Amino acid sequence: MSIKDKPPSRTRQIGSILLWITGLFFLFNAFFPNFFNNPVPQVPYSLFISQVEDGQVAKASVGDKEIRYQLTENADQDNAILRTTPIFDLDLPKRLEANGVEFAAPPPSNNFFGNLLGWIIPPIIFVAIWQFFIGRNGGAGGAGGALSFTRSKAKVYVEEESTKITFDNVAGVEEAKTELTEIVEFLKTPQRYTAIGAKIPKGVLLVGPPGTGKTLMAKAVAGEAGVPFFSISGSEFVELFVGAGAARVRDLFEEAKKKAPCIIFIDELDAIGKSRASGGMMGGNDEREQTLNQLLTEMDGFAVGDATVIVLAATNRPEILDPALLRPGRFDRQVLIDRPDLGGRLKILEIYANKVKLSDEVDLKEIATRTPGFAGADLANIVNEAALLAARNYRETVAQADFAEAIERVVAGLEKKGRVLSEKEKTIVAYHEVGHAIVGSLLPGGGKVAKISIVPRGMAALGYTLQMPTEDRFLMDEREMRDQIATLLGGRSAEEIIFGSITTGAANDLQRATDLAERMVTTYGMSKVLGPLAYERGSQGNNFLGDGGMANPRRMVSDDTAKAIDAEVKEIVETAHQQAIAILKDNRELLETISQQILDTEVIEGDNLQELLGQATKPEAIAA
Ligand code: ADP
Repeated sequence: MSIKDKPPSRTRQIGSILLWITGLFFLFNAFFPNFFNNPVPQVPYSLFISQVEDGQVAKASVGDKEIRYQLTENADQDNAILRTTPIFDLDLPKRLEANGVEFAAPPPSNNFFGNLLGWIIPPIIFVAIWQFFIGRNGGAGGAGGALSFTRSKAKVYVEEESTKITFDNVAGVEEAKTELTEIVEFLKTPQRYTAIGAKIPKGVLLVGPPGTGKTLMAKAVAGEAGVPFFSISGSEFVELFVGAGAARVRDLFEEAKKKAPCIIFIDELDAIGKSRASGGMMGGNDEREQTLNQLLTEMDGFAVGDATVIVLAATNRPEILDPALLRPGRFDRQVLIDRPDLGGRLKILEIYANKVKLSDEVDLKEIATRTPGFAGADLANIVNEAALLAARNYRETVAQADFAEAIERVVAGLEKKGRVLSEKEKTIVAYHEVGHAIVGSLLPGGGKVAKISIVPRGMAALGYTLQMPTEDRFLMDEREMRDQIATLLGGRSAEEIIFGSITTGAANDLQRATDLAERMVTTYGMSKVLGPLAYERGSQGNNFLGDGGMANPRRMVSDDTAKAIDAEVKEIVETAHQQAIAILKDNRELLETISQQILDTEVIEGDNLQELLGQATKPEAIAA
């Protein structure tokens, strides 16, 4: 793979040398103003005046800042000159005239070099300062030259056959591969699609935590399709100079169109694509907004029949992206690249282990089992650490013990991020998630349980249960809301039943359950006690955060009503809690079975999950 970069600019070096020379010259001149001239004796102004009045002065050259004069007695010596610094004296010409002094203003300075320097130095200083800032921003990859700072700094990777990255180099993200195969087809044979009048998609957003292989995947798409790959990071667009980012986007797309079909990869899209509303009052960033607008314009800009340029962008925070970016015709396709499950981790380990010499006893499956929550980059790192350890100890092959130590090292680094679980925590998470799933599967309001996972995601979620609505829903009835609350409490209830104690893991569930119950009472009028009244003020347009960050204020209510609301909310949540406990107690065996199974496989989904959950039974009290 070769990276095309310009060599660093020579003009910049020359510029800084010139700057130094002129700087020293000025300093010198400031301290020794007369070094380059013959010294002229200076006298006080009062002495000069008295000499004038005594008729001793023959000639004077009267300047703004200096008067130079010659005494009558020295009139024949050209260099017998004295000088004085004038004060503001309007009578001076009269005095000189009255005393017969020959006087004139000094001849205009004919210092050619002085004048020239006066013209040249300020621009040089300006350019030097400019270059200083560009140099700081551009870093090593910057295209040199003062006037090219708006150039896109996209690196163009031209794949060479030997180092070509393909889908084989990426493992553990099979669904993503399937979805991106289509993009490869678009790039390879665009005619097939345009012939029937279909438009080729322009943008695909790769969403996933850091290190899961988003960049690698984008390169693999380029490699599979055999097209050039432009890559730039969102944060590189955001520059000191307003307008530079936008110009860069324009330049990038121009270059890309010349090389089409090709792929543009924008890493860290969130750096430019943050929702404009959320910037708002907190000091919106003009530069970012301009860059974003330019990106949107460029994406709208490829006309039908234009060469195929597909923009792949990566982010780990899709929720903060500006909705305008996600509109049809822009990044309307999203592909999830998540942390790999057990099977995925094994495949990734196999890819990297192939490149090192392993001893026979190495069991990659065991390593995969011990590394839940690790992203592809972490796994690649483990293999490399293990190889380094083996080499450090002068061994020829990498042993299982090296892997164990490597995992410990990496885990020590990761633990701070709080996503590597101990065995005990993993067990709790398993029961917790299965608790959600069983309750959810029995209560119709919860939606169909599609997947249970105990692979930690991000900082907060240690596991998750994915429920899919079976149809589009716009209205929910009271029963469904109660079911949802019970499902949310299913996790905590399972912990209560199995371990007899409660962990902090349910905090988010409780928050959501309580919010839902409160809304039932105060917004939807679903409480019999409080009646069909809205106790919450309706929202008045968007609040200033633009993201629902501020809750609606309550209407003024009496103390009694406030108490009644609290009691009612508590009643709803508690009833749901009891319901969840009843269900799980009835299905305790199933809870154990599924939890043990998920501890082995980490993810249960599809038919297997449906079959297991199909065995759950509803307690009679709830069946009604
Ligand atoms: P991201 O862009 O998602 O932050 P990268 O693509 O930069 O992650 O991944 C960093 C490195 O980790 C890759 O170069 C590759 O070596 C390794 N890697 C990450 N995910 C995978 C994967 N799914 N399969 C193989 N290697 C991976």
